[in-house]
Formats: sequence, C-alpha cells, structure tokens
Amino acid sequence: MGRSRDPGSPAMGACAVCGSPSGGSLCARHAKAARKIEAHFATWRERAGVEWEEYLRRVSENDLSGAWIKETAEYLLRSGMRFGQISKP
Ligand SMILES: [Zn+2]
Repeated sequence: MGRSRDPGSPAMGACAVCGSPSGGSLCARHAKAARKIEAHFATWRERAGVEWEEYLRRVSENDLSGAWIKETAEYLLRSGMRFGQISKP
C-alpha cells in the first residue's frame, strides 16, 4: 500500500513529447529544445522570410537538427502552438 503510481494514465506535469515527469507541459530537455527553436526562428524569419509553421516543418525534416529538436518541432506543429506561447506553462 502507499504508492499510487499509474504509468498508463497521463499525469499532470508529464512532458507532452516524451511523457517524462515535468514541471510544465514539457520536460527539461524538450523545454530547452523548444526555447532553441524559438530563438532560431527570429533569424530564419529575417533571412528566409519563413513563417512559424513552415519553419517548424523545415526543422522537423532537417537531419542536421538533433533528435530533441526534431521531436519538439513535430510536437509544436501538431499542437498548433504559436511562436511565443511555448515557454509559458
Ligand atoms: Zn520530454
């Protein structure tokens, strides 16, 4: 008796990408990746004139992106998350 962990149900504070326990909607690794993605967007928008969704698509298809970055970009695309909403809980 005592423990009431149920790995089958999505607990509050689980990462939306990998399901790891987290303080917000993303775990530390994916939150960091999301912040990197956001930080790079400003540069891409200026240089290439790409919009947020197009940018996420390119990032998620780019083999040079790290696995965390790609997963996070795919999640942001799927969830329809907009630029500027990510870091907020
Ligand atoms: Zn995660």
